[in-house]
Amino acid sequence: MSDPPTGVRRDYPLARLTTVRTGGPAEFFIRAANLEELRRALAWAASEQLQVGVVGSGSNLLVADEGVRGLVVKLDGELSKIEVDHEDETILCGGGARLPAVAAAAARAGLSGVEFGVNIPGTVGGAVRMNANAYGGVLASVLAWAEVVDAAGVERRPPESLRFAYRRSALRPGEVVAGAAFKLKRAPGAQVRTTLADMRSRRRQAQPSGIKTFGSTFKNPEDPRADGRTAGQLLDLAGCRGLCIGGVGFSGKHANFIENHGDATTADVVELLAEGRRRVRERFGVELEPEVQALGPVPLPEDWRRG
Ligand SMILES: Cc1cc2nc3c(=O)[nH]c(=O)nc-3n(C[C@H](O)[C@H](O)[C@H](O)COP(=O)(O)OP(=O)(O)OC[C@H]3O[C@@H](n4cnc5c(N)ncnc54)[C@H](O)[C@@H]3O)c2cc1C
Repeated sequence: MSDPPTGVRRDYPLARLTTVRTGGPAEFFIRAANLEELRRALAWAASEQLQVGVVGSGSNLLVADEGVRGLVVKLDGELSKIEVDHEDETILCGGGARLPAVAAAAARAGLSGVEFGVNIPGTVGGAVRMNANAYGGVLASVLAWAEVVDAAGVERRPPESLRFAYRRSALRPGEVVAGAAFKLKRAPGAQVRTTLADMRSRRRQAQPSGIKTFGSTFKNPEDPRADGRTAGQLLDLAGCRGLCIGGVGFSGKHANFIENHGDATTADVVELLAEGRRRVRERFGVELEPEVQALGPVPLPEDWRRG
C-alpha cells in the first residue's frame, strides 16, 4: 500500500463524531480543509481500492461497532464556509457548513428560504444527501446546485439530477458534496428572525433535547394502513415509548427518537429498531423504514428499506 496523503489518520474513533455516540473507528480518516486535500485523499483511496464514506455532523448516522473499512472523510476549513451573495440572493456553502448557521446567516442577510434548517443539527452535505426538511421547508426546493466530488473529479449538479424524494437523494456511495448554493428570496430580517425563534420554540416543546440521539428513527410511512399517523404515533400506540434494550431506549417524550443512555452500542440500537418495527408490524401491518444511515457493516437488513 502506498503512503496515505498528509492528514490521513489511522484507526480514528468515529463515535464522538456522531450525535448518538456509538460505533467503532475508521480504518483511515481525514478532515479535508479544502478541495485540493479532498481530491488528493479521494484519488489515493481510489488507487488503493478503498471504499469512501462521509461523516457530516453525524446526526443521522449509525457507525458499525467493528469499525469502518476504507477512508472516512469529514469536511472542514474552507469546505465549511458560508458566504452570502447579496446581489444574487444566494448563499454559497461548503458541504461541511452547519445548517443552523446557514439559517442564521440568511436571516442576518435578510434572505428567506432556509429557515427550516434552524433546528436540523446536520451539515449542508448531509442535508443534500438526506433532502432534509422541517416545518414545510425542504432542501430540494431551495437548492440551486450541489458540487459533488469523487475520484473522477468535481461536478456541479442541478437539483433535477439528484432526484430528491422524502429524505432521499440519488447521491451515490463515495460521492462527497463539497459545496452547495441556495437560491433564496429577499425578506425583512426581523421577519425571518421571528420565524426562526418560532421554529425553535415549537421544536423545544415537541422533541427531547440534550440527549444522544439521531433524530427521527423511522420515516413517516406512506402505507394506507398507517391511516395518516406518523411513525412516532404508531410506535407510541404499539407501546414503544420508553421501551429500553441494553443501553438504549425510545424516548419518553417522543417515541420516534431513540436515546443512548450512556454506553450503548450500535448493536443495541439495531435490536431496539427491530423490536419497534416488529411491534408496529404486528399491531398495524405497517413496515417502518429506518431513516438513519449506516456507515460500515451495520446489520440493518436490506428488506427494511423501501428501495
Ligand atoms: C435532534 C435531531 C433533530 C433532527 N431533526 C431533523 C429534521 O427536522 N429534519 C430532517 O430532515 N432531519 C433531522 N434530523 C436528522 C439529521 O440532522 C439530518 O438528516 C441531516 O441532514 C444529517 O446531516 P449530517 O451532516 O449530520 O449527516 P450525517 O448524519 O453525518 O450523515 C448522514 C448521511 O449523509 C451522508 N453525508 C454527510 N455529509 C455528506 C457530504 N458532505 N457529502 C455526501 N454525503 C454526506 C453520510 O455519509 C450519511 O449517509 C435531526 C437529527 C437530530 C439528532
